[in-house]
Amino acid sequence: MVLAPIIYLVTHHQIYLMKKVLCLLPLVFFLIGISAQQPPSYKNFTVSVYTRAYEVRDMADQKKLEDSWNLISQQVGIDKIYLETHRDLVIVPEKVLTDAIKFFKSKGLQVAGGITFTINESNNFETFCFSNPEHRKKAQEIAEFTARHFDEFILDDFFFTSCKCDLCIKAKGDMSWTDYRLKLMTEAAADLVINPAKAVNPRVKVIIKYPNWYKHFQGLGFNLETGPNMFDGIYTGTETRDAISSDQHLQQYESYLIIRYFNNLAPARNGGGWVDPFGLSYMDRYAEQFWLTLFAKAPEITMFDYRSLQSPIQKNLKAPWQGTGTSFDFDAMMKPIPLKDGKTILPSTIARAAGVTFEQVDQFLGFLGNPEGIKSYRPFHATGEDFLQNYLGMIGIPMDIVPVFPTDGSMILLTESAKFDPRLVQKIKDRLQSGKNVMITSGLLRALQGKGIEDIVELTYTDRKALVTDFRAGWGKNCKSSQEILIPQINYLTNDSWEEISALKGATGWPILHRAQYSKANLYVLTIPDNFSDLYQYPAEVLNRIRSVISRDLNLRFEGPSQVSLFYYDNGTFILHSFLPEPVTVKILAKAPITRLTDLLSKESLAGMVVKPDFFNRESVALQSFEITIQPHSYRVFQTK
Ligand SMILES: [Zn+2]
Repeated sequence: MVLAPIIYLVTHHQIYLMKKVLCLLPLVFFLIGISAQQPPSYKNFTVSVYTRAYEVRDMADQKKLEDSWNLISQQVGIDKIYLETHRDLVIVPEKVLTDAIKFFKSKGLQVAGGITFTINESNNFETFCFSNPEHRKKAQEIAEFTARHFDEFILDDFFFTSCKCDLCIKAKGDMSWTDYRLKLMTEAAADLVINPAKAVNPRVKVIIKYPNWYKHFQGLGFNLETGPNMFDGIYTGTETRDAISSDQHLQQYESYLIIRYFNNLAPARNGGGWVDPFGLSYMDRYAEQFWLTLFAKAPEITMFDYRSLQSPIQKNLKAPWQGTGTSFDFDAMMKPIPLKDGKTILPSTIARAAGVTFEQVDQFLGFLGNPEGIKSYRPFHATGEDFLQNYLGMIGIPMDIVPVFPTDGSMILLTESAKFDPRLVQKIKDRLQSGKNVMITSGLLRALQGKGIEDIVELTYTDRKALVTDFRAGWGKNCKSSQEILIPQINYLTNDSWEEISALKGATGWPILHRAQYSKANLYVLTIPDNFSDLYQYPAEVLNRIRSVISRDLNLRFEGPSQVSLFYYDNGTFILHSFLPEPVTVKILAKAPITRLTDLLSKESLAGMVVKPDFFNRESVALQSFEITIQPHSYRVFQTK
């Protein structure tokens, strides 16, 4: 109504002028396009590099900058760069920052900012004290400074607090550290970062990058309940490094699963995954972290960081299994790289390991559908059997973690963390009464003792343990593990519930997988060894039966040892990945109408062999079986037909 009179005031002459301007617009956009963005380096994802404040500061030396940029960008395609403004109280001088932004824009890159809120990273990752007014003021100034120079910036890993100074102790009062820090950091996010940044630059998008230790976030103030909605987007740390030699002991599967979990926390707003080259004992591990991130359909990969990408390739990172046709091929990586101008260069830094990995994965990622897995519920801020889902992924169960109790699908898996939901037992009952199964772990059984679980089935998680090597899975022959496994002893009432898999010792035994019927479905209890990684010691026969029971919703599963993962997609594609140091042959069991598999990389086509349905697992359809060999630390991608 208000607009109408204004429109009538526009004269014919003005319309003529406007038309002329409009005609020129495509040309203007075209010209801007030439000086702005380069075409994407890869078809299915973008690649970024993150630069710490130290290296951005060094970009004052333009000659060094040009050289280092050439060194990296000739070996791996890069679409975007994050330039950090602050880390460890180092603030990049404004002139150096604006020159660096100009430099990377002239190279056709998207340029975003970054902030690391550390006081001193080398002092146990010392972060800001958000109870301290001086630190708060500094944090706000850094956010404002960054927002003045960028329309997007990301907070690296350290927007948490571990401070227990006297100010924090006083401010915490009677609250738990977790509750205090969750509240403190939620307020700090709004008051010191997001709102001040948007006041300076209303266009700015503020992204929070969460690290890989998701299960412990709440204790240090990362709030997965409020954060994903407060920030414009989130980002995922998918660096799992080495499970044994690193203090975190993260399982390789997490590089995939954490992306899936965070996608479920912030659908369509999880910007990507983030990998660094630290803690490697063989180069394949670096490549694995990248491709596992991409198997989860991350739209972007960030390589941390500009400095590390200039590290020379070390020959001692060539694994003993190299030369056997593995997915990461060290010798192929060392081949000369053709450049756009027709010249070639020799690979010299680890940037090339990233480059060859992206080139290979980009060939098939577009064929994959949406990843699917067995849903496992983690209420917000819950702990208990920490990171267990990643171990389950490593024994060949496709996993997914969700923040809401799943009411769909014919099977879900609940670990001890689910106990944080006060209505859990009722939700389990509702599922069973609607004909949908539930599998719980022995850790959750223990947590729910006396809390209502006995209303479903009377089982006792005793304080006795058993050290076992012998097992019986269904009606098959007994089988053995190569090492002793310490398990909790679970007691049950004869004929009230049944052992599907048993562990044996001497003249007696205990459940490994137990089934209790309730209303229209079954509650299963999966015994988790005291050492989670002993799941990898369960014999193949035990693992096969666990996979068979838990993955009934999927149209295929595999039989074989642990440390082989299955990545399952909703369009008939799947990936088998081995983390073993030697070749492994597994058997895919696929339901009708699948009769053929095509390897999407080698184009090899495999015909299935008909096998009988698994009577013990109450399967009625015939299965097709396919034998597949996978090289060490390698994957194979298939399309089913
Ligand atoms: Zn403090």
